[in-house]
Amino acid sequence: MPTRIPHWIDGAVRAGTSGRTSPVTDPATGEVTGEVALAGVEEVDAAVAAATAAFPAWRDTSLTRRSAVLFRFRELLNERKPELAAIITGEHGKVLDDALGEVSRGQEVVEFACGVPHLVKGGFTENASTGVDVHSVRQPLGPVAIISPFNFPAMVPMWFFPVAIATGNTVVLKPSEKDPSAALWMAQLWQEAGLPDGVFNVVQGDKVAVDRLLEHPDVQSVSFVGSTPIARYVYENGTRAGKRVQALGGAKNHMLVLPDADLDLAADAAVNAGFGSAGERCMAISTLVAVGGVGDDLVARIAERAGTLRTGDGRRGCDMGPLVTREHRDRVAGYVDAGEEAGAKVVVDGRDVQPDGAENGFWLGPTVLDHVSTDMTVYTDEIFGPVLVVLRVDTYEEGVALINANQYGNGTAIFTNDGGAARRFQHEVQVGMIGINVPIPVPMAYYSFGGWKNSLFGDSHAHGTEGVHFFTRGKVVTSRWLDPSHGGLNLGFPKNS
Ligand code: NAD
Repeated sequence: MPTRIPHWIDGAVRAGTSGRTSPVTDPATGEVTGEVALAGVEEVDAAVAAATAAFPAWRDTSLTRRSAVLFRFRELLNERKPELAAIITGEHGKVLDDALGEVSRGQEVVEFACGVPHLVKGGFTENASTGVDVHSVRQPLGPVAIISPFNFPAMVPMWFFPVAIATGNTVVLKPSEKDPSAALWMAQLWQEAGLPDGVFNVVQGDKVAVDRLLEHPDVQSVSFVGSTPIARYVYENGTRAGKRVQALGGAKNHMLVLPDADLDLAADAAVNAGFGSAGERCMAISTLVAVGGVGDDLVARIAERAGTLRTGDGRRGCDMGPLVTREHRDRVAGYVDAGEEAGAKVVVDGRDVQPDGAENGFWLGPTVLDHVSTDMTVYTDEIFGPVLVVLRVDTYEEGVALINANQYGNGTAIFTNDGGAARRFQHEVQVGMIGINVPIPVPMAYYSFGGWKNSLFGDSHAHGTEGVHFFTRGKVVTSRWLDPSHGGLNLGFPKNS
C-alpha cells in the first residue's frame, strides 16, 4: 500500500484537500511506494497564510536566537543524515553514498547561515555631514517561496532555506513531486530544532502550486531550480507579479581537455563527473571536448573505466543507480538512439546494461557517444542522464568558441598542465562556474552558486553573499540629534557641510 505523502503547514502535517495526487516510485524496483498530495490553490494559500502569520515574530527574533536554532538544526542533520540519505535513495535512486554527499553539501550552507549575525552587519559612517551619522541595515523580505527539482531533493532546498530563515524570512517550499519526502523530513527536523511553527512550510504539488505561488500577493520572492523552459516561465511570471526572482535552469557542461593534460586523470574525472548520480546533476560533465588529437586515446581510457562501473540498486553498494522515472529513462535512451542514427559512434552502450537490481528498475548504464557534432540533438539538448558525448576540435580557440556558442553556461572544466592556458580559459569562457582540473566545480557555501545565459534568469546566484542579499532588502538611515543650531527654514536640496 503506497504511503500518503502530505503537506507540512504551520508545524503539522496536513492531508491534501484538492483530491489530486501523484505516484512516487522507487526507481530501483519500479514499485509505487507513495502517493503525494498535489496542492490546489487553497492548500498553497494556507501555507502562505501560515508563513505570513509567522513572519513578524520571526523577523523580530534576535539574531542570537535565530542562529541558535540554525545550530541545533545543523547538529540534528549531522547526527541523522543517514536517515535522510535513505529517503533520497528510495525516491530518487542515487546510490547511498552520493545521497549522503548531497546532504553534506546542503549542510555546508546551514553552517554558512549559522554566521548570520556577521552576514547582515551593516555599515556605519560617523559625522558624514556635521553632526550627521549614516548607517545601513538589511531586513528580511517576508514569506518567500522555494521551488526545487527532483535531482537534489535535500541539497537544492538547502541552497536557499538556511539563508532565508537565518535572515528572518519565512518559507514555503514546493519540492519536486517525484521525490517529495526529503522536504517533509527536513520540516520535522526544523521543528525539533526549535523553529517556531509556520516559519518553514512545505506544499507538495505541481504546476498548479507553482502558479499560485507566483501570483500570490504575499509571496515576496521566488527561488526556483529546474529545467530552462520552466525557469524562464517562473522568472517571467514571478517578476511580472512584482516579485524578486532567481531562477536557475538547465545545463550542458563541457570539459575541455588540452593535449598536455594527464589523460588518466582526465579520464577518471570525466567518468566520475559524467556518470555520478547517473548524470542527473546540473553540474555533471555531459560533453567532452578533446583538443588537438587526444580524442582516440582519451575515449579509449574513458571506455575502459566506464566498463568497470556497476549499475544497480543504490542500497547495494553499486557505483551508479537507476534514472528517476521510467519515462525519463526512456527519454534518455531515445537520445542515444537518435545520436546513433545521426552518425555518432556508440563506444559504450548502456542500453543493454545488466543491473544489480530488480528487473523493473529504471536502468540505463553508462553510455559514451564519440564523434558527435554540434547539430545532433545529443549535443544541442540537455539529456540529464548517464550519457557522455565527445566532440573533437583542433585548437584551444575552437574549443572555447564551441563552449561560448552553447545556450547554457552553468559549469565547465579545463584539464591541462599549462597554467597560462587555464588562466586564459577562466577569463574567456562565458560560464558561471569553472573548474581547473576539477570536473564538478560546485562553489563552497560561502561563495555563490549560479550559471550564465540560459542556466540562470535573474541576477542573484544562490547562497554566499548573493544569497544574503537576495533574501534581504537594504535600508540606509541618516540621523541627526537635534540641537537649537539646526533650526531655520531652507528649501534647497540638502548639502553636506
Ligand atoms: P523541472 O523543470 O521539470 O521541475 C522543476 C520544478 O518545477 C519542480 O518543482 C516541478 O514540480 C515544477 N514544474 C514542472 N513543470 C512545471 C510547469 N509546467 N509549470 C510550473 N512548474 C513546473 O526540472 P526537474 O526535471 O525536476 O529537474 C531537472 C532540471 O533541473 C534539469 O534541467 C537540471 O539541469 C535542472 N537543475 C539545475 C540546477 C542549477 O543549479 N542550474 C540545479 C539542479 C537542477
